[in-house]
Amino acid sequence: MSLFPTYNRFPLTIVSGNGTKVTDDNGKDYLDFVSGIAVCNLGHRPPIVQKAIEEQLNKVWHVSNLYEIPIQEQAAEILSEAADLDYVFFCNSGAEANEAAIKLARKHTGREKIITFKQSFHGRTFATMSATGQEKIQEGFGSLLPTFEYFPYNDVSSIEEVHDGHVAAIMVEVIQGEGGVVPGTKEFLKKVEEKCRELGALLIIDEVQTGIGRTGKAFAYQHYGLDPDIVTTAKGLGSGFPVGAMIGKAELEGSFQAGSHGSTFGGNPLASAAVKATLQEIFTSDFLEEVINKGKAFKRKLQESLTGFSSVSEVRGEGLMLGVAVQTEALPLVHSLREKGLLAVVAGPNVLRLLPPLNVEYEEIDQAVTLITEVIRQQEASLQKA
Ligand SMILES: *Cc1c(COP(=O)(O)O)cnc(C)c1O
Repeated sequence: MSLFPTYNRFPLTIVSGNGTKVTDDNGKDYLDFVSGIAVCNLGHRPPIVQKAIEEQLNKVWHVSNLYEIPIQEQAAEILSEAADLDYVFFCNSGAEANEAAIKLARKHTGREKIITFKQSFHGRTFATMSATGQEKIQEGFGSLLPTFEYFPYNDVSSIEEVHDGHVAAIMVEVIQGEGGVVPGTKEFLKKVEEKCRELGALLIIDEVQTGIGRTGKAFAYQHYGLDPDIVTTAKGLGSGFPVGAMIGKAELEGSFQAGSHGSTFGGNPLASAAVKATLQEIFTSDFLEEVINKGKAFKRKLQESLTGFSSVSEVRGEGLMLGVAVQTEALPLVHSLREKGLLAVVAGPNVLRLLPPLNVEYEEIDQAVTLITEVIRQQEASLQKA
């Protein structure tokens, strides 16, 4: 194999996908409740996005950001309006979006310190790895960038006690995704916002996983009425086309001018076509309301079906970003589910994470609940025997 072994891969080769369904090289079908890790929010090969990319393929693929790109501006307009913000910078990934946010916050405030949270995840580049509050991700790379400080998540009093004039920004996830599908409390998130205002620091919300309708709002911070200065997003933004974005307030404009920052590929015509079509589909009140309804139904059915299992501690999350916290290892559950035809993923060692496409059918949700209940029942039975 000519690849660096940076991934533990499941023994599965997906050769085609359509909606929530994917098929492997043996012809076996699966319900995909991973969606490429919250990427394929409209399912696999959504016709509207496919058509938009095909149309752009027949015009021009890439021109560089040296020239006007009207479709990029159209995508930016939809994105900034949905976020209640003003300007967009397009890049190619979540980590790059967070890099842009970190650079902009430091340049705008003239300060260096950035507060992030334990168990957070912000990416794998040097700055975003340093921002990430998880030692296992930082191990072996030597000294990190020194200007990040990690605070306990959902701990109101520790944030309250920050009195520091050097803080450029506080960067936070509304729901910690990789950290275990842990929703922030309203009190905590409001306190973070309040502290930013008090310190003259910027509020950066990392919506790389929670954005683009995943939780039933365009962005998850909209559940809490927060007013971020910068929002970053990526995963679901292009329905699988690699693209990221940083979105910010108009008053930051002067700090990101020609020559301040850039990306060769960022927002190229193909990526912008994917973004525009994706957002036009997801950012409507009808679509988002259905995500809320489906998320509520999924959560309630899981909770009902899993009551009485001593190994299940909690079903949590928002919209169609749910986690089943278990007292055992979650990974064996993922393997058993795959054998039964359901793809899921872990979030940390003890959480089964469920991220179906946002247009998943109710019937598919029911099938998933049945299979999840079945594997948990089997695991409890085999643990009792042992
Ligand atoms: C996935 C993720 C990232 C990193 O995104 P990449 O596209 O892998 O660089 C950053 N922040 C959060 C919250 C994520 O879930």
